[in-house]
Amino acid sequence: MIILFGRKTKERPLGWVAEFCPICREIQACELRSLERVFHLYLVPLSRRQIAEELICTECGYGARIAAKQFRYVAEKRASTHALEASTNDDLRAVIHDRLAFESRLKSGSLSHEERIDAIAEPLALAQPYIENRARRGGSESMLAVLIFVLMIACVVTAVVILDPQVPNWLKITAGAGSSGLLAVIIYLSATQSRREARRFGLPLVARSLAPLHPRRDEIEQALSKLRESRKKVWKWFRPHEIEQAAESFRREETSR
Ligand SMILES: [Zn+2]
Repeated sequence: MIILFGRKTKERPLGWVAEFCPICREIQACELRSLERVFHLYLVPLSRRQIAEELICTECGYGARIAAKQFRYVAEKRASTHALEASTNDDLRAVIHDRLAFESRLKSGSLSHEERIDAIAEPLALAQPYIENRARRGGSESMLAVLIFVLMIACVVTAVVILDPQVPNWLKITAGAGSSGLLAVIIYLSATQSRREARRFGLPLVARSLAPLHPRRDEIEQALSKLRESRKKVWKWFRPHEIEQAAESFRREETSR
């Protein structure tokens, strides 16, 4: 008898606040959500436990773990960024004054070389936990689990076919080749999974954040080296030319609007 037991991450909306988004590089209306882990047996929920709170930017979709209690007030309904700032985070501009001044200098092109490298590295570093969280909920792990299950069945069938003296050789070779091919696909998908998820979930955010910087390829390489030195594995997921092209495409799209 197969016992279908598992766990899922569910999101529950908590309300709306204004917060600085490091991807949009400005204050935005954000949705606060509670992340809950639900354990289920035969799809019937058995227990529910809050594991984190997350803040999602309504403009770019970037989400980060955060403590909801840091906001004195959380609005029940969505409102304009200006209205949410006044009601939920009215001292935000004073608190992040230096950051806003930095963003003004970034937009006017007056950052030093070191500041530019830091400004390129920041969204890449922020993208790492975002990509990992999205991938965990995105279903790519469950697709691999299904393929591994299919491979196990294929191996059993192949073993039965090979051991049966009545089965012609061509069928044994076909069954063996089929299982080997499936194994090769699983190995390829596992090896490239992080890069595929990074391109899917992370590259659009990185492009948006870097577009106002017009980053050169050598600057992106330096930012990625910095991340490698600080042991952030995100440096392996992106190629400098991909980031450069994505940022340029985003900038062109924005200017043509
Ligand atoms: Zn944003």
